[in-house]
Amino acid sequence: MGDYRSNLAMAEAYLARYRAGGVLNRIGGQDLPAASGDWFETIGPADLSPLARVAKSDARDVDAAAVAAKAAFPAWAALPGAERRRILHRIADAIEARAEEIAFLECLDTGQALRFMSKAALRGAENFRFFADKAPEARDGKAMYAPGQWNVTNRAPIGPVGVITPWNTPFMLATWKIAPALAAGCTVVHKPAEFSPITARLLVEIAESAGLPPGVLNLVNGLGEDAGRALTEHPAIKAIAFVGETRTGSRIMAQGAATLKRVHFELGGKNPVIVFADADLDRAADAAVFMIYSLNGERCTSSSRLLVEASVHDAVVAKVAERAARIPVGHPLDPATVIGPLIHPEHERKVLSYFEKARAEGATVAAGGEKLPGPGCYVRPTLFTGARNDMAIAQEEIFGPVLTAIPFATEDEAVAIANDVPYGLAAYLWTGSLDRALRVTERLEAGMTWVNSENLRHLPAPFGGVKNSGLGRDGGDWSFDFYMETRNVAFATVPHAIPKLEG
Ligand code: NAD
Repeated sequence: MGDYRSNLAMAEAYLARYRAGGVLNRIGGQDLPAASGDWFETIGPADLSPLARVAKSDARDVDAAAVAAKAAFPAWAALPGAERRRILHRIADAIEARAEEIAFLECLDTGQALRFMSKAALRGAENFRFFADKAPEARDGKAMYAPGQWNVTNRAPIGPVGVITPWNTPFMLATWKIAPALAAGCTVVHKPAEFSPITARLLVEIAESAGLPPGVLNLVNGLGEDAGRALTEHPAIKAIAFVGETRTGSRIMAQGAATLKRVHFELGGKNPVIVFADADLDRAADAAVFMIYSLNGERCTSSSRLLVEASVHDAVVAKVAERAARIPVGHPLDPATVIGPLIHPEHERKVLSYFEKARAEGATVAAGGEKLPGPGCYVRPTLFTGARNDMAIAQEEIFGPVLTAIPFATEDEAVAIANDVPYGLAAYLWTGSLDRALRVTERLEAGMTWVNSENLRHLPAPFGGVKNSGLGRDGGDWSFDFYMETRNVAFATVPHAIPKLEG
């Protein structure tokens, strides 16, 4: 990692080929523009200048990709797991070898700070390694004995699948969904988000250069309502793994109904961090700050509601406000930057609208609450206090560096406030009492709860949300359950009496 100027020069060098040739689709191992010949432009969030033109695909391109994925499926599914493991490890090696290129392009495309994106590339490699090592056991099943009968299950890859990803940390999320699909023996059509499509292109190139056969991973760029929709409706695509907004998830469920798509949704969140007076308050404040302000707050598991026991509320809020005010906001390629620009002016307008709503509803701005001078979409890390849980800033996913603090008096009230939102992705609990931790975690409506910790991931553990935050689980063997069909074979072990129907 160099200084800002050398990083920017290097990032521009990596971007040059996309500026020249655009971001093409990759279908059956071939670079292709959209069948329509249309393009859309992306802009860099750091200064809103054009970055690249991107193939604007429609149902024809999706069909070509689905046909390629279907053609590649039998051979890929039949490959021994150990062979898929070897190829996926080679992809991980190639990701690591190009980690700088991935990180720099991700910064330019998403506005995320380099200090986080340099790790995102490595986490992408880790995702491939983790599922590579699981590939040989993907087909394993169970044996179940009954008197006179022996049941044996096995799993088979479901077929070609669609993966639809959002714009916030596109490379890492794409690998999280695609690596287990490939390890399971599925072939993939990937439709990345239109705001930040560049590193998805890099991923398919890296994968093929590492030995992934053509057609096993296909890339189709385009808008959600065109290319995305066509993918969810295509009869050859057996399942859709989707990460994005809750309302898009329900649209996809409706779109996929006619072809009975299996769906897996990782959706939005409004995650509480609950701090009791008996917690280590400095560590709790550090973790709350990290979980809402890292990745620009554009993070599904961000701790966007700070629920603090009344007796320590003012002290904790002061610690968070003081830390928030010191966070450097700047260009994503500057190694000193912690918060970069928001992804797009459209998203910035949404985030800024909550500053207005907060004031109108009577909340207090304890930190930030304003836009920084442009041209990029820079906003200050923001903390609202004096809020109630029925305010828009406490109920709705803002998806920016915006934290809403609410006091509570009792454990029951903490749980009630925490659960009183439509979402249920993650929760964070800070307490010095084991009994309380056991009681409260049992009652929280969240797919994942971290106790006395920020979001520290363990890849074998299940990842996913309840309520409006998602359907299904990723991680460990749960990923294989989604990408595979479980089948049962029952063997008679004794010549049992077969019912005779004749009179
Ligand atoms: P989005 O729902 O707008 O878009 C996500 C993807 O869906 C994009 O590729 C888009 O083109 C596509 N899409 C849009 N409409 C479609 C349609 N009708 N049919 C098929 N595809 C369609 O989400 P976003 O704004 O890109 O991402 C932010 C959201 O993602 C936030 O809500 C965030 O919480 C969520 N997210 C969740 C997780 C998680 O693991 N739970 C992780 C990251 C982000």
